[in-house]
Amino acid sequence: MTRTLEKSNRHFDNAVRRLPLGVSSNFRYWGDERTVYVKRGHGARVWDLDDNAYIDYRLGYGPVILGHCHAQVDAAAREGQAIGTVFALGTERELAVAELIHDMVPAAELVRFSNSGTEAVMAALRLARAATGKDNYVIFEGSYHGLFDATMWWADVANLKDPDQEPEIVSLGKGIPDLIRQLFWQVPYNDVDRLESLFRRHADRIAAVLIEPILGNCCGIPSHPDFIRAVRELCDRHGVLMIVDEVKTGFRVATGGAQELYGVAADICTMAKAMGNGYPIAAVAGREEFMRLFGKGVAHGGTYTAQSMSLAAAEKTLQILRDGTVLAGIAEYGRKMQAGMSRILEASGVAHSFTGHPSMAGLFFRETAPTNYRDWRLSDYTFYDALARNLIDRGVMCEPDSREPWFISAAHDRACLDETLTAFADALDATLRARARPHGQAAE
Ligand code: PMP
Repeated sequence: MTRTLEKSNRHFDNAVRRLPLGVSSNFRYWGDERTVYVKRGHGARVWDLDDNAYIDYRLGYGPVILGHCHAQVDAAAREGQAIGTVFALGTERELAVAELIHDMVPAAELVRFSNSGTEAVMAALRLARAATGKDNYVIFEGSYHGLFDATMWWADVANLKDPDQEPEIVSLGKGIPDLIRQLFWQVPYNDVDRLESLFRRHADRIAAVLIEPILGNCCGIPSHPDFIRAVRELCDRHGVLMIVDEVKTGFRVATGGAQELYGVAADICTMAKAMGNGYPIAAVAGREEFMRLFGKGVAHGGTYTAQSMSLAAAEKTLQILRDGTVLAGIAEYGRKMQAGMSRILEASGVAHSFTGHPSMAGLFFRETAPTNYRDWRLSDYTFYDALARNLIDRGVMCEPDSREPWFISAAHDRACLDETLTAFADALDATLRARARPHGQAAE
């Protein structure tokens, strides 16, 4: 292994003097000596400051669905730039993009733009509260809905000693008011009975269920089709709105997102990442009767909403994705990659499974795939951690955290696949060898 991070390390030493952790998101800090700084990306590949090349399976946590520096999307963004940036007034293109979204996601009867997934989910929750006159909400264990106080709560599954014990719900860091705990419940994913029993007791206080149809921040664990349909049915029966958070799944797992895959329509849905191929744009959308509340007592706006470059980039990205061909190719790559990895793992007798959609899948070291976050801890995730480290050292930029799926773009081609599988075999070998060594075992 010849990868060095000399320049990245030097940059880190400088950056940390002005930027907390030397980066602009806590999640980008991988340790003083392992934090990577990117020089550039192109297609499915990124290069760091030391000119190490990587095949990118993180894609900025999903957005870059067509590949980095996509010529058509970037040209469209430049066309948007020529119009101007923001005006605190509308532009014609907003309607064009809203029509595209509605075409692809029928539940998006009306659309409002936001800049990020977090903002869109905040707006969705506010809308649901306004529409129902209720304040409380339900989220599922292992889900992630953005960095705002209402959703920064996590079931502390990793520290569970006994599988029947209920996990403690902890805030994602300090600075989040404890009194927010009174406003939400967390329910295990894919557990209809728990949701139903909660609704029976508290539906009169619950404005919304906030659901990721595939847990995009927890191994890509998918909803069981019966589960997500039951959530829809329970929401209808109890006067609770169903907010489907498609920030990661939208325009990725199908042109109509997970709602199309499952045949479920949200009351309100949120979309972001794949919609703009990396340009900052998101949408909150949904049923007309709720969406019309924006402007009728419910606030929504923001200086940068529907910013011209992002909007033009979204228009082009959605036009490219609309007929489904590109997404079919992405899923096909994912299936081939999984088949190739399985062959390599089986040859070494390593039990494993995959979850999620082939375009955003999780890899587990356990025979059966998890169906909720509690199951994740039953997998050998320390093995994943070690393997991921070895993969990154060999130019396969996968997520170091086993809970984040691998994302695939339209730019991942045959050469990427072959290189990935060669590196995978080599990384697996190195991981197994390290495990076999006594000090490797001691580290487990
Ligand atoms: N919802 C989901 C399902 C997400 O995956 C994310 C981001 N990973 C968000 C909301 C927040 O989006 P953003 O990072 O754009 O604020």
